Amino acid sequence: MKNIIAKRVNKLKKPFGRGLIPALIIGAVLLSGCAYESGGAADEPYAFSDIYFGTVVNIRLYGEEETADSRETRIRAILDDIENSISRRIPESGISVINNKRDGEYSEVPKEIGELLLKCRDISEKTEGTFDITIGRLVTLWNIDELSLKDGAQSIPAPSDIEEALKTVGYYNLIINKTSLTGADSYEVILNNGAGLDLGAVGKGYAFDKLKEAADAPIVASLGGSIFIKGDKPDGTPWRVGVVDPFDTSDMAGSIVIADAGEGICVSTSGDYERYITVDGVRYHHILDPHTGYPAKSGVRSVTVVSHDGVLSDALSTALFVMGADEGMRLLDEYEDAEALFILEDDSIIMTERMKALWQEKQ
Ligand code: ADP
Ligand code: MG
Repeated sequence: MKNIIAKRVNKLKKPFGRGLIPALIIGAVLLSGCAYESGGAADEPYAFSDIYFGTVVNIRLYGEEETADSRETRIRAILDDIENSISRRIPESGISVINNKRDGEYSEVPKEIGELLLKCRDISEKTEGTFDITIGRLVTLWNIDELSLKDGAQSIPAPSDIEEALKTVGYYNLIINKTSLTGADSYEVILNNGAGLDLGAVGKGYAFDKLKEAADAPIVASLGGSIFIKGDKPDGTPWRVGVVDPFDTSDMAGSIVIADAGEGICVSTSGDYERYITVDGVRYHHILDPHTGYPAKSGVRSVTVVSHDGVLSDALSTALFVMGADEGMRLLDEYEDAEALFILEDDSIIMTERMKALWQEKQ
């Protein structure tokens, strides 16, 4: 049973300044102090919050108040559908069905899921495997779902177990073909070599793309802190998306100013402060390097990616975190529709040229 946290948000506290949406902030803060505020009473959004994909989801709907209820119902149906098809935590989901097959045994998936998997594999190729959804066994081994802020409550896996799980990781273990025999508009998916799928790094972006298709009035969706915006702000001012300061997660490093969200824009952040444990003074976080089997260590504390493509922004934020700033900036040259901002361990910030036009550092 889902827990409905708030049905309608009126005037909210605004610890991050007027109109600023925290791009990445832990659930409790987002709920108690979601720093979104629109202009006058007539501009107040219809808002609801819930838990999907194991994370806090906040949605704000603008436009006609009379239709907001039915829009909420539609959005919830979309999010439920996505969760039921791609969540590894739901035993009957399409992804779980694939994961539960034996090596080489195929599963049939709907066209949309087949296309999503193809897109993920393509991003894996372009990012040299730093983003890789065949990382499932490692994610399970590291117990990523339960990585908590409780220092010392957990231990890290044994090196030999990491080595074993690592052998199953590799996007070439994922075979995706258009179904040829039945003539159905679907795909056949096969996993080889004991690989397991985990779509945790793209689920939010995929949901954003679905909301983009469905929304017919301005909307702001925050999923675990990553943000999707479509349409113009009713008071005509730009949208502002806050980027959490990894060195002080109760504060913002700055904000991304979006004057024209148009048909939809996504701001995805991957950071080492979201889910982690500290063991013997070392921080182990939830973004794994598929080449080593350990949490990525690339000198980066967070990466924020802005793109009109939700899956791309989500996948790239994860990949760029693993790659680090130097290699990451080179990769970004290949993507027309992706701008990025890296906050490094030495507290410096590196960003692409076009991001400079959007970024406002906190004074
Ligand atoms: P968040 O989900 O916190 O926004 P990300 O989008 O970076 O962060 O996704 C991290 C999640 O993706 C992890 O919780 C795990 O399930 C999975 N994951 C971790 N490392 C990788 C990786 N290198 N490639 C693909 N998926 C990953
Ligand atoms: Mg991601």
